[in-house]
Amino acid sequence: MEANCVYRCIECSQLAGELYRDYNRGVLKLTICKSCHKPVDKYIEYDPVIILINAILCKAQVYRHILFNTTINIHGKLCIFCLLCEAYVRWLQLQGSTQTTDPEDIIRYAKEWDFYRMFGIACLEQSVYFLGIFAALYLMASGTLKTKLDFILLLKALLLSSYGKLLLIPAVIWEHDYTFVSLKLIKLFVLTSNFQAIRVTLNTSRKMSCMAICTGLILESIVVDSCKKMEWSM
Ligand SMILES: [Zn+2]
Repeated sequence: MEANCVYRCIECSQLAGELYRDYNRGVLKLTICKSCHKPVDKYIEYDPVIILINAILCKAQVYRHILFNTTINIHGKLCIFCLLCEAYVRWLQLQGSTQTTDPEDIIRYAKEWDFYRMFGIACLEQSVYFLGIFAALYLMASGTLKTKLDFILLLKALLLSSYGKLLLIPAVIWEHDYTFVSLKLIKLFVLTSNFQAIRVTLNTSRKMSCMAICTGLILESIVVDSCKKMEWSM
């Protein structure tokens, strides 16, 4: 029975075999959850815009809908795109801080190298942050990360829930119209979204999810600091 249960109820996370039943002549009926007696996934009837608004509001139900009941497969591309945006914003900030009037070609190559360096740092920070989250969950809530599938699902959830970084695009387009506060707000939104993704994917408590995020952040800041120290010593 369990093998056929590929979906999850968005309200109580109970496994379900189907989301709707297709009666003849196009009559569809939403499946009702056996555990909480609510529709297993009401969002299959909703407009994508409504789903997006609910995702922005960080509703656990919509996270379950996206992570368990859809076949969205854009996490890899989304991750690369977000990292490129992040690298570009950092590179712009770097350009702003080091102004030069020298027209030599060597400067252009140095600037290009700076962009790759920023991309590398952004990748490293992201990896360390995720590593911190996985380590914290593995050590403090070992029951939640049991199989390889749990790891993959959590990684996918973390990558997808980092979609808030797309808000960096306006910062990329209107080069000088971003502020320190808006970048911090984007970061806060991504963290909230990651928090909800962990909670929904592994069915953990708010406290555990929060601790995992904090561990990831601490580890990330340690790496950032050591990177900066290395740069100064070079
Ligand atoms: Zn239910």
